[in-house]
Amino acid sequence: MPSKDITDNLPNPGARLSASASHRRDGPARQGWGGLKQFVPSSVCLQCEGCCRFQLAESPWRPKVGEQEAQDGVDQAGYLKTIAQRGHYNCVFFNKKDSTCGIYGHRPFECALYPFVLSKSKERLELYVHLACPYIQEHHLNQDLKIHTDYLKVFFAQTQVKDFLKHNSRLLHDYTPYRQELEFLFTIEV
Ligand code: SF4
Repeated sequence: MPSKDITDNLPNPGARLSASASHRRDGPARQGWGGLKQFVPSSVCLQCEGCCRFQLAESPWRPKVGEQEAQDGVDQAGYLKTIAQRGHYNCVFFNKKDSTCGIYGHRPFECALYPFVLSKSKERLELYVHLACPYIQEHHLNQDLKIHTDYLKVFFAQTQVKDFLKHNSRLLHDYTPYRQELEFLFTIEV
């Protein structure tokens, strides 16, 4: 049975966010995926120049957005759009002045999950951790990662999360071409 804090932090995955709802402080979608515990402390993320910026406009590392999530800023293939910025590309929601996310409380599931990455190939859905994240490079052999992995196993075992993934198949894409950047954690039953 999930521990109380995980159950309390369940998101509202069926809620479609609109541009206005994403900035509201109340309403059914107020929590989004913000309740998903983060492994990397925000103080570290804010100092890092890795996330939310991409080398290519069509980078495969741009977050994908599920069919039931807000579609603002999403292209036809389901990726967050980017804006060219001095030789690289920023997510449309990235605030370059202070390196924050303009929709942090309601950012897409893939953003909330990162540096953990879902990958589906040959009908197997697996969770990996992205070794390109500098914090993961420092901590991936630590006990803390094992504890967080156990938390994620419980998180993905919840019926509400499984249902969300079933209805947001865009999120189940294949990252195995980038396998050298990923470390396998566990298989998810959907
Ligand atoms: S939505 Fe927010 S967290 Fe996700 S890539 Fe854009 S700026 Fe980063």
